[in-house]
Amino acid sequence: MSEAVREKLKGLRKVFEGQLPGKILQIEKLWEDLFQDRWDPRKAGEAALLLHTLAGTAGTFGFTAVRTAAKTMETLLRTALRDGEVPAAGEHLALLKEACGQSDENPPVPAPQKPAPVRVVPIPPENDEIFLVHDDPLVTDSLALQLRCFGYQVSTFATLAELTTGLKAATPQLIIFDLSSQEDRRAVANTIAEIQQGREAPVPVIFLSGRSDFNSRLEAIRSGGHAYFVKPVDVGRMVDRLDVLTARRTRVPFRILIVDDEPLLADYHATVLRQAEMITSVIIDPEQMLETLIDFRPDLILMDVYMPACSGMELANLIRQDETYIDIPIVYLSSETDVSRQLVAMSRGGDDFLTKPIQPEHLITSVTLRADRYRTLRSFMLYDGLTGLLNHTKTKEQLDIEVSRALRQKTALSFAMIDIDLFKSVNDTYGHPVGDQVIKSLSRLLKQRLRATDTVGRFGGEEFAVILTDTDATAAYRILNKLREDFAKIRHASREGLFPATFSCGLACPTPGSTGAMLIDEADKALYAAKRSGRNRVVCGCDISLEEE
Ligand code: GH3
Ligand code: MG
Ligand code: MG
Repeated sequence: MSEAVREKLKGLRKVFEGQLPGKILQIEKLWEDLFQDRWDPRKAGEAALLLHTLAGTAGTFGFTAVRTAAKTMETLLRTALRDGEVPAAGEHLALLKEACGQSDENPPVPAPQKPAPVRVVPIPPENDEIFLVHDDPLVTDSLALQLRCFGYQVSTFATLAELTTGLKAATPQLIIFDLSSQEDRRAVANTIAEIQQGREAPVPVIFLSGRSDFNSRLEAIRSGGHAYFVKPVDVGRMVDRLDVLTARRTRVPFRILIVDDEPLLADYHATVLRQAEMITSVIIDPEQMLETLIDFRPDLILMDVYMPACSGMELANLIRQDETYIDIPIVYLSSETDVSRQLVAMSRGGDDFLTKPIQPEHLITSVTLRADRYRTLRSFMLYDGLTGLLNHTKTKEQLDIEVSRALRQKTALSFAMIDIDLFKSVNDTYGHPVGDQVIKSLSRLLKQRLRATDTVGRFGGEEFAVILTDTDATAAYRILNKLREDFAKIRHASREGLFPATFSCGLACPTPGSTGAMLIDEADKALYAAKRSGRNRVVCGCDISLEEE
C-alpha cells in the first residue's frame, strides 16, 4: 500500500475519532429521552439506526469496543420494538461512553494488491512501433501503408545490417521478417537471438513467407518466430495477431458505485477499492441514484442497507426496475449480522451480503469477482459474435443514454451510420467467408481508431453505428472521412488476389428534443444520400461548417 493511501486512511480514522463525541452525544440524548422521559417507538427506531451506523463505522475504523457496545444497544432497541415492550436501560450507555477511549492497535488497512484481473480493450495505438525487414521495396511499402492504416507506426529496413543499426536507436513492439529475402537464414536466426538476449520478455517476431510447407514453418519457429504468415498476407488476420503479440491492450478498471449515508465509511471503502485500481463514485443521497447510474455507468454497486431516506433493498428494487440495470451486481455492505435478515435483503435484488467491518482484502476480492463475472456475462449478451462489437439492441440503448446525457449536460454528440458499399458483389465475387473478413477488418479499424469513450456497434449485416461523445458534426465528419479514406486503402485477401472495399457514411447530431430513434432515422437518411450520390463518401444530415476544408 502506498504511503499516500495509508495517510489517507489514517486521516479518515482521525476524522471519525473527532466525530465520535458528537455521535455519542446524539445517542445519549435519545437514550435519556427514551429511558428517563418516555418510551417512544419512533425515537427508538431513530436511535437504533444511529447505533447501527455507529457500529458499522466504528468497526471499520478499529474501534471494536464501540462497535460491540453500539451493536448491543441496537439489538436491545430492535428486540423491544419487535416485541412491543419497554426494555430496561441497564448500563449500556455508560459502557458505550467508556468504550470510546479504546481503539485497536491496528485498524484494518489494505495489504498490497495485485492489479485486478479485468477485461481488456484496445487502446489508441500511439506508440506501437513495428520494424519491418524486407528487401522488396514495393511489397514493403504496400504492407507498411496498410499497417499504418490500423494505427501502427512502421519503420522499414532493407537489410539485417540496417535493422541492427535501427535497433540501437529504438526497441520496436514487434519485428516482421520476410524469409524470401536473400539474407542467410542462419544470419536471421542469429540476429533474432541477439535481439532477444537479456530481455525479460522477448520482442515478438513474425515471419512472412511465400511457402506454406511444414519445413518452412518449422524453420521459422526454430529461428525464433512467434507467428508465420503466408503471402499474399491477409492484413486483417495479421493485425489480429499483431494486436495480441504487441499486447496492444489495456486493463479497464472496474467502476464501483458506493451508496452509503455515512460519508466517512463511503470514503473509506472508496479508498480501499481505489487502492486496488478501481474507479469509484460515492452517493450519500439515494435521490442521486438514477442520474449517477447513467453518468457513471458502474460495473457494480456497493450498497448500504440501512439509510434514513430509504433502505438499500428499496433502492435495489428501484434500480432493477430499469431493464438496463436488471443484471448489474448489487452487493450489500452492512453491519447486519443476522443471517435471516441478510437473506431477506438478498431476495430483494441483491447478489451478495458483506458484513461491516470487512477486511479490505475481502472487500476487494468480493467486488473484483462479481464485477468481473458481470463483465464477462454482459460481453456475451452485448457483443456481436463475428466482430466483438456492441450488438444492435445495445447500440440503440447506448445511443439513448448518450443522447439524453448530451442534451442534459449540453455537450456535443455525433452519431454515424456506416454501410459497406456494394457488399453483395463482394460476397458474389469472392465468397461469403471473404465478405466476413471484410466486415471484420472494418470493425477492427473502427475499434482501433475511435476512443474508448466512443461506442462502436454492428447494426446489421454490413452496417455499423458509431456514437462519438463530445464530438460535434464538423469534428465527426473529419474523423469519419479519414476512416473512410484509410479503409479504402486496405487490401483484402481472396483466392483471386487482393481487392479494396469502401463504405458510405451518414452523420447526424442531436438538437433539443432529439431521441435516439430520431437520430438513427436522420443518420440513415444521410447514409442513403451518400449512396445515391455515388458511394464512398460521408454525408452529414446536420449543419456543418467545412469551408476551410
Ligand atoms: P450498397 O452500396 O447500396 O450498400 O450495396 P450493398 O450490396 O452493400 O447493399 P445490400 O444491402 O443490398 O447488400 C448487403 C449484403 O450484405 C447482402 C447480404 O448478403 C450481405 N451480408 C449481410 N450480412 C453479412 C454477413 O454477416 N457476412 C457476409 N459475408 N455478408 C453479409
Ligand atoms: Mg451495403
Ligand atoms: Mg446494407
